[in-house]
Amino acid sequence: MKWTQVEVPTGSRTQLLDITKIVAGELAKTGVINGTCHVYMPHTTAGLTINENADPDVARDILSWLARLVPVTGDFKHAEGNSDAHIKASLVGFSVTIPVIDGRLALGTWQGVYFCEFDGPRHRHVLVGITSG
Ligand code: ZN
Repeated sequence: MKWTQVEVPTGSRTQLLDITKIVAGELAKTGVINGTCHVYMPHTTAGLTINENADPDVARDILSWLARLVPVTGDFKHAEGNSDAHIKASLVGFSVTIPVIDGRLALGTWQGVYFCEFDGPRHRHVLVGITSG
């Protein structure tokens, strides 16, 4: 499988950035009709998730409640001062897998792929890999 690196600049310390169109664009370049799309996050303070992209309040609520679960300050030893970001990234995870059916990402009607920034703004990237069959 060939992996493609896609640049994703983020705009604030925490942000759920909808990258569905970026991922779909990478799929379109391959011409794969049926297969699997993998998206991988090669960073330790950002993650990936799939959730609703119809109502933007859902992304807002996810960020808001993650902030309540893991406050920025607390009993952290990691000297960079971004332990909350490391923990939030591990909570959401570092990869998503999406079926490819009839040349399209087989996401549910209300689903989108989110780049979850927890220690931005930064110049980030994700890896997209698509297999056929
Ligand atoms: Zn750190």
